[in-house]
Amino acid sequence: MFRAMRRNRSAKIIATLGPATTSESVIADLCEAGVDVFRLNFSHGTKKDHERRYRAIRRMERRFGRPFGILMDLQGPKLRLGTFADGRVRLHAGAPFRLHLEDRPGDEHNAPLPHPEIFAALEPGMDLLLDDGKVRLRVTECGAGYAQTSVINGGVLSDHKGVNVPSAVVDVSPLTEKDRGDLQFGLELGVDWVALSFVQRPEDVAEARKLVAGRAGVLAKLEKPSAIERLTEIVDLSDAVMVARGDLGVELPPEDVPSIQKRIVHTCRQAGKPVVIATQMLDSMVYAPTPTRAEASDVATAIYDGADAVMLSAETAVGEYPLEAVGIMNRIIERVEFDPQYRIIMAGDRRRPEATSEDAVSAAARQVAETLSAAAVGAFTWTGATALRAARERPHVPILGLTPNKETARRLALVWGVHPIRTQQPTTFGRMIRESLRLAKEQGFAKVGQRMVLIAGVPLGTPGATNILRIAWVE
Ligand code: PGA
Ligand code: MN
Repeated sequence: MFRAMRRNRSAKIIATLGPATTSESVIADLCEAGVDVFRLNFSHGTKKDHERRYRAIRRMERRFGRPFGILMDLQGPKLRLGTFADGRVRLHAGAPFRLHLEDRPGDEHNAPLPHPEIFAALEPGMDLLLDDGKVRLRVTECGAGYAQTSVINGGVLSDHKGVNVPSAVVDVSPLTEKDRGDLQFGLELGVDWVALSFVQRPEDVAEARKLVAGRAGVLAKLEKPSAIERLTEIVDLSDAVMVARGDLGVELPPEDVPSIQKRIVHTCRQAGKPVVIATQMLDSMVYAPTPTRAEASDVATAIYDGADAVMLSAETAVGEYPLEAVGIMNRIIERVEFDPQYRIIMAGDRRRPEATSEDAVSAAARQVAETLSAAAVGAFTWTGATALRAARERPHVPILGLTPNKETARRLALVWGVHPIRTQQPTTFGRMIRESLRLAKEQGFAKVGQRMVLIAGVPLGTPGATNILRIAWVE
């Protein structure tokens, strides 16, 4: 077994794969540097690229003897530019720039925008924000299939950069034809999580759930003001949530994003749903080997808030320092979780257990583990639900997500504090306990002479019936 793979932290790291991280050796290095979940971003790349990366990650599971999560991120009704003849251009403030529907590559004077529905919604005076708001264009004149604009904020634009039109309501469906095709493809490959972009209403999540049909967890990306208005309903319908600060901070004033981030994390922790903080966490590391102090602080804040996972996007997909980005993220999380203040915050911010046997047993397990200084809480789980409730308690000790179900183990890679471990099909409760103690020891979670707190639903394999707590010595 690979002891080096045991993470010394509770919060998880998600890394987006892209051109900078395609080779199998780089993916292996990312695993060692600390990635728990890999994101395949279907806004970029071909199915073939994603499949190659998917297969490389699964080979890593065999190589490192542990599960990794794979999150497919659907493009959703994201509005994007077409391409440029030279791949990228620089726009200067004050210059005119034309957007059009024609199918020809752009340059510094014009670019294709293949979305008739945008042109239908535009009016003179409206602003278009490009590449997460870095470039701002103001419409001076428009008509069917074109818009003449003036560059307000200049900058570099490149192929397929995102376009937001905050002041217009653009009539688009939550899952595009491309999304439906990609979704089928991803589910057939066997992705563990499906991220939905630009969720606007709970109905969008419900629609996706039907298509996914339990084959993967459904993660709603919160990046539209309308989704924030119906936050609780969306969280209830989703298996996990992402604070997608890139588009959120374009659609809403940036000063609104920090408090919305806190509100989303709070709501998810209350519901016991995993929550991911995403975008621009270490953005300067796309070009630099070290982060800014503000970025280090941003990652730390997400951890102090109790988020389940922090995500890297461009830093690992196209950045020059993907391994350094994962490395520093790993060190920031470890350092925060080592801070006595962090424990005080987690303890003070603990959620009340709900009146279910699962929560009663999970809360008791945390308390017993802390009272006895036990090495870990081991949660036997088939669907992952028991491990999720144990994680909601935010215990000081690691949670072992013990499951014979490969898909559950992979999905749990996203969850705060849970170290997923695959077990044999359980036969008897006694055997399962012996196997768990052995695995915990083997993987460096417990030493001889320490105790573990084990929780399970007996008879085994009855979901939603956590009813046993056992204290066991590691021999
Ligand atoms: P994206 O989503 O990277 O797919 O745009 C994340 C965000 O908007 O923050
Ligand atoms: Mn987005």
